Amino acid sequence: MKRKLRREFLNSVDLPLFVEIGEGPRKYVGDIIENLELSSVFLITGKTSYDLVAVKIKERIEEFLAGIHFVQGNGMEEVRNLVVDMGYKDIDGVMGIGGGRVLDIAKVFASEFNIPFISVPTVASHDGIASPIASFKEGGKPVSVTAKPPAAVIADLVILRHSPIRLLRSGYGDLISNTVAVKDWLLSREKTGEDYNEIAASMAVMPANLMLTSAKKLDLKQMSHLTMLVRGLILSGVAISIVGTSRPASGSEHKFSHALDFLGLGNGTHGEQVAIGSIIMEYLHEKHYGSGSWELMKQSLERIQAPTTAREIGLAREDVIKALLYAKRLRKKRYTILEDINPGREEFEVAVTKTGVA
Ligand SMILES: [Zn+2]
Repeated sequence: MKRKLRREFLNSVDLPLFVEIGEGPRKYVGDIIENLELSSVFLITGKTSYDLVAVKIKERIEEFLAGIHFVQGNGMEEVRNLVVDMGYKDIDGVMGIGGGRVLDIAKVFASEFNIPFISVPTVASHDGIASPIASFKEGGKPVSVTAKPPAAVIADLVILRHSPIRLLRSGYGDLISNTVAVKDWLLSREKTGEDYNEIAASMAVMPANLMLTSAKKLDLKQMSHLTMLVRGLILSGVAISIVGTSRPASGSEHKFSHALDFLGLGNGTHGEQVAIGSIIMEYLHEKHYGSGSWELMKQSLERIQAPTTAREIGLAREDVIKALLYAKRLRKKRYTILEDINPGREEFEVAVTKTGVA
C-alpha cells in the first residue's frame, strides 16, 4: 500500500509553547502571560473553580485582567453570546481555569478571536486539557468543534490530586484508550493507505503503555502516577494537534462512547465509556489480529477502581449491544476494527460476555 503524507499539517503545527506540570505552578502564570506578550487577558472559569483556584491566580494577574466570565451551560450558544458580548473589547489572550466545560468554551472563544489560550485544568478527566478539540451538546446531541490548541498549559498537581477521584479514573480511561485508537490507525494505514504519523502515535501511546505496565501498583493519588497521567493526557492533546485530527486518541472505542452519547444511554463519564469500549475493542483486536491484552487493560482499571462493567455506568447488556451496533454507523470514514471485521450482533454478544463487560 502506498504511503500518503499530508505535508500541509506538518508544515504548520500549533503546539503549546509553555507546559508547566508541578506543585503550585501558578506562580509562573504572570511570567507566561508576559512571555506570550499579552496585555489584556480575559478569564473564563466556573463558580467552584473560581473559589478554589482562580481567585488566587486572579490576584497575580490583576494588571493583565480584562474581565471574567463564569460558565453556566455546556453549549455553543454560550460561546456565541460571549463572542458577541466581548466583540468590542480589546483582549489579546484568554485563560480558562476549570474543568472540561470551562476549557472547551475558553478554547473555542480564543479560536474565534484568534488569540492565545492558556489552559489551567482543575480536573484531569480527559485529553481535552491540551487538545484543540471541544465537545458540546446541541439539542441534546454531542458535537465536536476543532479549535486552536492552547498556547500554554498549567497543570497544578496539588489541585488535580484533590479533584474527585472518579474524574482522575476517567482520565486514566481516556489515556489508555489511545492504545486501541492507535491500533485502529495502523490498521487503517495497512488497509486503506491512510496517512499515519509515527511521532503523534508514539506520543499518544507511550504514556498509556507505561501506565499499563505499572498496572499492578497503580495509584492515581500518588504523585508519580498522577504526573504520568497528566503528562500523558497533555501529550495526547499535542498528538492530536500534530495531525490536526483526533485520530491518535480516538478509534473504535470512542465510537462506542459516541454511540452511547447519541443514544442517550447510561450515566458514565467520557473516560468511563471509552475505557469500557477499550476493553471490548482490545478483545476484538486480540482475537482477530493477535495484538494487545484486554485482560491487562481490565486489570489496570480494576486496580484503580474504575468501572469495567456495563452495570456500573447504568447500562444493561442490551444497551451495550445496541451502542456497539450503532457505533458501526458512526463516522465511517474513520476506518477502525469495526469497519475491518464488520462484527454482527453475535460477535458483540460473545465479546461482552467473554470480557465480563455485560
Ligand atoms: Zn477521549
